[in-house]
Amino acid sequence: MADDIPLLRIAGLGKRFYGTHALNDVDLTLRAGEIHALIGENGAGKSTLIKILAGVYGAEEGTIALRGEAVNPVTQRLPIAFVHQDLGLVDDLSVGENVALVAGFPKRHGLIDWPQVGRQAIELYDRMEIEAPDPQSPVGSLNAAGKALLGIVRALASRADIVVLDEPTASLPEPDALHLLDVLRRLRATGAGIIYVSHRLNELFGFADSVSVLRDGRLVRSAAMASVTPSSLVQDMLGRAVEFAHGHAEPTANKPALLFVEALRLHGFGPVTFSVAAGEIAALVGLRGAGQDEIGRAIFGALETRSGTIHLGGELLPPRETITDRMARGIALLAGDRGRESALAGMSISENLFPSQSIVKTGSLAFLSPAADRARTGEVMERFDVRPRNPDALIDWLSGGNQQKIFVARWLAAGARLLILEEPTAGVDIGAKLAIHAMVRDAARAGAAVLIVSSDFEEVATLADRALVMGRGQISGELSGAALTMDSLIARSSLGEDFAASDYAPATLNA
Ligand code: ADP
Ligand code: MG
Repeated sequence: MADDIPLLRIAGLGKRFYGTHALNDVDLTLRAGEIHALIGENGAGKSTLIKILAGVYGAEEGTIALRGEAVNPVTQRLPIAFVHQDLGLVDDLSVGENVALVAGFPKRHGLIDWPQVGRQAIELYDRMEIEAPDPQSPVGSLNAAGKALLGIVRALASRADIVVLDEPTASLPEPDALHLLDVLRRLRATGAGIIYVSHRLNELFGFADSVSVLRDGRLVRSAAMASVTPSSLVQDMLGRAVEFAHGHAEPTANKPALLFVEALRLHGFGPVTFSVAAGEIAALVGLRGAGQDEIGRAIFGALETRSGTIHLGGELLPPRETITDRMARGIALLAGDRGRESALAGMSISENLFPSQSIVKTGSLAFLSPAADRARTGEVMERFDVRPRNPDALIDWLSGGNQQKIFVARWLAAGARLLILEEPTAGVDIGAKLAIHAMVRDAARAGAAVLIVSSDFEEVATLADRALVMGRGQISGELSGAALTMDSLIARSSLGEDFAASDYAPATLNA
């Protein structure tokens, strides 16, 4: 029966670089109307698999079949569309022109029909129920989310049966990422098969239908999403069980609160009441858009509050204080949008680690720090294994994970008392993630209060001593100790108020 023939079947795929297997005997099956997540640590082989599908490299072993027919992506044009962060988009051309590059330029009397170029783009956006940008605006003026959505619209224009996305949400703010997932669900409903690469495990639950895990070029698991748990996926990726140790052993219950937030309310969020002790790693966690970001930013002075109070070290903070005032009190915020808000682009690692006051006064993340010090930079790089080990290397050259180590170290060097960390390891590989977690634990051990603001349940379960779960702008529950697991966090934040932690049974959630 035709229905039994998958859209795409990859069998025994193999590819070597200089004798090392980047892919080794990999199988993957994708059906029409399926979202198939492809996950694995950095270097696992995900991009190599995608590049083989795109015909960038030829496979050395194995076969690829589309609807049962053997194909060769290197020599054939296939109905597969690829959405990378901005792959294939031409910044200098308009939105309409970028769509027309794929859909074709409508003509009238032998000339390009420009009004129709615009209408064609708008029609495709409409079909995906996405608000269309001005089709005449240059693509370079779109933000990351706009480019990702245009990539999807173009996939639709090319009438692709298969759409492959390589980490499209890694750099997107929460509402945009949620929107993108919604658009992909609509695309799935049209019968497309979707291969979705992501580092964010929890966004896959309730979204992907199936998952394949690569490790060192080999397929270690391919399964229905409903049959796996977050912890089993992490174990598959790493090839070992992960110990979900909680921060440090000392109980924090009877320590005085360094941060005390009471009945805090801001536009659309709250009231929330909670505290964080010195030496404690607490987390404000929830699905994207649940309000954790806003509460974190309000404590940092970046968002205005409507009512409620914030105490730091027993002192009431004036409600209209600026970010600079809050930083002078020892509050630090590591922004989730690493590139835009944290990096001093075009400057060296050393300058990013110890920026002089004159440099940072202008930025939104201005702060006080000691003078630049190459020797100390060397120490930090050694300690946290920052690569390349060159203090003068430009921050722009570093991978996301290595950049993030520098930004965390920057706040530690500045002696923050309260560290608010937004999605501290979003988009970084597991090695960098473990290094950043070690830094955060060190900071807590040295007496800092840490507030992780996150929608990454795996991270919170691994790192936090206590999680305050947010739903619809309020704290809907608290998990700590043995009850603080990825599974309970996912259940707690997806099921909201109807869920009681004591009722939780893993078997029923994933059955
Ligand atoms: P992922 O996308 O999962 O991070 P990749 O597919 O990029 O992994 O890489 C898989 C392996 O192949 C890694 O060991 C990587 O170093 C190697 N590799 C990838 N592309 C090349 C290349 N063009 N030349 C040499 N080695 C490569
Ligand atoms: Mg890759």
